[in-house]
Formats: sequence, C-alpha cells, structure tokens
Amino acid sequence: MKPTKQYDIIILGGGIAGLTSAIYTSRAKLRTLILEKNVCGGLVNWAIDIENFPSYEKLGGMEFMEKVKAQVERLGADIEEIVDVIEAMEKREIVGRWVFDF
Ligand SMILES: Cc1cc2nc3c(=O)[nH]c(=O)nc-3n(C[C@H](O)[C@H](O)[C@H](O)COP(=O)(O)OP(=O)(O)OC[C@H]3O[C@@H](n4cnc5c(N)ncnc54)[C@H](O)[C@@H]3O)c2cc1C
Repeated sequence: MKPTKQYDIIILGGGIAGLTSAIYTSRAKLRTLILEKNVCGGLVNWAIDIENFPSYEKLGGMEFMEKVKAQVERLGADIEEIVDVIEAMEKREIVGRWVFDF
C-alpha cells in the first residue's frame, strides 16, 4: 500500500525562496510539502557569513538556513530531501519514499 498524504501546495526546491514561501503557505493553513533534491538550504548554505541581517551582526549561511528550516517545520510543513523532482517526473518511478502518478 502506498503511503498517501494530501497537500494543498507542493514547493519544488528547499532554498531560501522555497522555504520562505512555505512559511507563508503554512501560516495560511495550506498543507505544504517541500521537495528538495539535496539538502535544504540551497545556495545560502555556501555563504560563510551573512552580515548585518537585522538582529544578527554575523551568522553562518548554513546555521541561518537550519533556523529557517526549523521554523518551516514548526509551522507544520513537511520536507522531503533527496527527491529530484525533474528526474522523478521523467522516470515516473519511486524516488525516495515518494511515488509520482500522472
Ligand atoms: C557564496 C555565496 C554568497 C552569496 N551572497 C549573497 C549575498 O550576500 N546577498 C544576496 O542577496 N545573495 C547572495 N547569494 C545568492 C543567494 O544565495 C541566492 O540568490 C539565493 O540562495 C537564491 O535562492 P533560491 O531559493 O531562489 O535558490 P537556491 O538557493 O538555488 O535553492 C534552490 C533549491 O532547489 C533545489 N532544486 C533544484 N532543482 C531541483 C529539482 N529538480 N528537484 C528538487 N529540488 C531541486 C536545489 O537543490 C536548491 O536547494 C550568495 C550565494 C553564494 C553561493
């Protein structure tokens, strides 16, 4: 039996754009899933320091994205990592724990 769960919104990519979107959709009570082909955080993970962001003089990029990810999860969104959505769509087969039916 396939695991099934329904979502109102599926966001492709767990970079800062995707995670920020998930904050808003989750706060709007939309059941949200983020599919990320690698690890959440995207390019910001590679920034050594984020400087002069309000309330933080200096913060590591990866540390910042971990906080954003935790915020998204606290708001109730689900995150599935290691899911290449394009590949899944092309192959139409199981990727990670997900099955894509079209
Ligand atoms: C070293 C460095 C320093 C930077 N400094 C600054 C700065 O000072 N100020 C500034 O404004 N910007 C800076 N940037 C740029 C900033 O990081 C990017 O503009 C920002 O990360 C873009 O966010 P994004 O969510 O749109 O894309 P990304 O961060 O690229 O996230 C996209 C996500 O989607 C995932 N994804 C892609 N394809 C698939 C797929 N097929 N299936 C599933 N998931 C997929 C990727 O794995 C990734 O996690 C810097 C970037 C770097 C690398």
